Amino acid sequence: MKHADLHRLYPKILGYAAVSVLVTGLIVSPWGNTARATDDENSVNLYSYRQAFLIDPLLDAFTEQTGIKVNTVFVKKGMLERLKAEGRNSDADMVLSADIGRLHDMVTAGVLQGVSSDKLNKNIPSQFRHPEGLWYGLTLRARIIFASKDRTQPGEVLSLADLAKPALQGRVCTRSGKHVYNVSLIASVIANEGIDQTRQWLTGLRDNLARKPQGNDRAQAKAISEGVCDYAIANTYYMGKMVTNTLKPEQQQWAAGIRIIFPDQDGHGTHVNISGAAITKSAKHRDNAIALLEFLSDTHAQEIYAEQNFEYPVKPDVTLHPLVSSWGKFKADTINLDKVAQHRITASKLVDETAFDLGPQND
Ligand code: FE
Repeated sequence: MKHADLHRLYPKILGYAAVSVLVTGLIVSPWGNTARATDDENSVNLYSYRQAFLIDPLLDAFTEQTGIKVNTVFVKKGMLERLKAEGRNSDADMVLSADIGRLHDMVTAGVLQGVSSDKLNKNIPSQFRHPEGLWYGLTLRARIIFASKDRTQPGEVLSLADLAKPALQGRVCTRSGKHVYNVSLIASVIANEGIDQTRQWLTGLRDNLARKPQGNDRAQAKAISEGVCDYAIANTYYMGKMVTNTLKPEQQQWAAGIRIIFPDQDGHGTHVNISGAAITKSAKHRDNAIALLEFLSDTHAQEIYAEQNFEYPVKPDVTLHPLVSSWGKFKADTINLDKVAQHRITASKLVDETAFDLGPQND
């Protein structure tokens, strides 16, 4: 039945309702978990890579404070492909994601729009937001070095460069060099040291590996506890997740044997990455999305958001979780993450070029 026929059959208001039901019913998504298009002015639609336990309490508080309803689609993977496929018809107003790499890929694909506000600029230090407001960091994680308490000496490793020293042969573990966390880390080394030095470092690090890169960050802590390696590269919050893991108490044991090293304190500072948010180009509730972004950058939300996952708040002077605070103060690299992200493709190429994921090649 055509729309015109409907209008003839029903009174006008009923007709519009029927058309809208018909159209909504026709939306078919290859991803299954589909957000219903909402014409509710007083709402905002969110696509989130971040898990419900992290953000639901905050979103509820936002709705309570503003009356703006948040419709969230939790996405496990393929968010960028989804945004590209949906194009300007996408329901998404805002995205939440972790790692600058994923946000930068969305910038490159042209699915985001720049926004700015005094509040965002005040709450979020400039290195953790895009120069044109295409993304904003909301929580921070340092990519650090886990060291075996039993088998390492304080001072032996103080920098990422130290992990490539010949004395560490067979003593280092890491996940794949192609993982988004490591690509961003390597990109930060390129931004600070240049391509040639990074290639040299990556080759040295590869030859110091105890095994082929594998597993996630926590698997490296396990490897240290099993004596496979003495040093590993990992994000700070995993330390918190392991220490407090009552469901898998063996992880508490892994963490108990580990000392944390914030690398490069005498140089440019430790590489710090973000979880962040961005407004989509297709946003139909742009003002509501900016309001949500501002809410998440404010002190109250910052405390809760960072604490849930043992991350650092992006807003300076917000209280840290006691456990996070116990790791001590450190100097973070102040280079803008947008600059770092611009080296990600080169970083990824260097990982291939050095056959990093094949492990050591010095035997
Ligand atoms: Fe993670």
